[in-house]
Amino acid sequence: MTAEIICVGTELLLGNIINTNGAYLANQCAKYGIACYYQDVVGDNEERLLGLLKTATQRADVILLSGGLGPTEDDMTKESVAKFLGKELVLDQESLERIEEYFKTRKLVMTENNKKQALIPEGAVALPNDNGTAPGIYLETEGATYVLLPGPPQELIPMVESQVMPRLLAKSDQAICSQTVKICGIGESKAETMIKDLIDAQTNPTIATYAKVGEVHIRVTAKAEDEKEALKLIKPVIKELKNRFGNAIYTTDESITLEKAVADLLLANHLTISCAESCTGGKLSARLIGVPGISEAYKVGYVTYSNKSKRKLLDVKKSILQKYGAVSENVAKEMVKGLMRETETDVTLATTGIAGPDGGTPEKPVGLVYIACNVKGKIVVKECHFKGDREKIRDNAVAAALELARLCLLEYFSEVTFGKEKK
Ligand code: ATP
Repeated sequence: MTAEIICVGTELLLGNIINTNGAYLANQCAKYGIACYYQDVVGDNEERLLGLLKTATQRADVILLSGGLGPTEDDMTKESVAKFLGKELVLDQESLERIEEYFKTRKLVMTENNKKQALIPEGAVALPNDNGTAPGIYLETEGATYVLLPGPPQELIPMVESQVMPRLLAKSDQAICSQTVKICGIGESKAETMIKDLIDAQTNPTIATYAKVGEVHIRVTAKAEDEKEALKLIKPVIKELKNRFGNAIYTTDESITLEKAVADLLLANHLTISCAESCTGGKLSARLIGVPGISEAYKVGYVTYSNKSKRKLLDVKKSILQKYGAVSENVAKEMVKGLMRETETDVTLATTGIAGPDGGTPEKPVGLVYIACNVKGKIVVKECHFKGDREKIRDNAVAAALELARLCLLEYFSEVTFGKEKK
């Protein structure tokens, strides 16, 4: 099955909004093994959209359209698709009732043009929108299947996941399954080199790598007669990836994030964590605190940006700061030591670095970051050299800190287990 994505909106063409729907839809297609060869962006212009519909219909089985389903004059996606296919727009009573209910429960006045949103091309199925007014539209024709989706991502994403993908996959006589292996601490090009032979030999399952901030995700996708057979094909590939990447894999579960992997290790072992951040400025704590249930483990977070705060809150000696400088292995080490003393936490994490764009020197260039982790007195400091702008360096430092915490915790647990076994 092939798909083409058409994102409609003059705002997109002007660069006023970023086309995240395009990226999301492309990702969904890749995830489910739907080949997507073309992606288009077009303004709110009927003539140009009609032209695109003609081209897309010639080269794809499914046309996914986003945007332009709203009540205003410039919203004309649905009208253009109906015109293109020579179909009338008819009232969908159920959609009208849902729209009326939407306004009633919010005590808002429904204007006449909102009724326009309940019109769908004849023969189409309305896809209920639980997060807005415009229903999606699913229309199968001899030439292609047209899926019209609302522009706001918070409306589009749940609709695609719960209504569109199941419909598209049901059309296929094959089951498509995928599993993602998430890796940290290894760059994308190195990861690709490590599995080049697998990628070169791939047919079914296919293997694709995706670079994320500080992480690489490897998605393995298989097609088979049914789900059981597809999973059977995936299993040995996942096993091989585990052999090659070992501990660098933090999960094979799509829903687990790096911070959740760290949080799960802490929570399962009743350990607490605190953070002292310089260059990351609270981002590390924010990611940890984003994990539901972390309150059982997370204790304190300090943003110790100035030398004075490192001295006052973490008890880093003035002499050490003067001798080695704030961005140094020694200071990172003192930060996690002091933080553990001050907060009585099992695990402490610290970051100190030069995020730029200024402040770098030949000895200490922009992108140099020291990350320290202290697990019950055992301290590891990692020196990192990141590239990119200030935000990228800081985000990479956060990912590296989470990864260091994860590895230190795994090492700690292996020693604890080993100790127990020896007794
Ligand atoms: P509405 O009923 O809200 O008008 P709509 O289906 O008509 O929805 P648009 O008017 O095209 O959609 O866009 C509404 C908003 O949705 C935009 O202002 C933007 O915030 C978001 N949006 C639209 N298209 C995209 C896209 N491709 N990527 C990300 N966001 C988008």
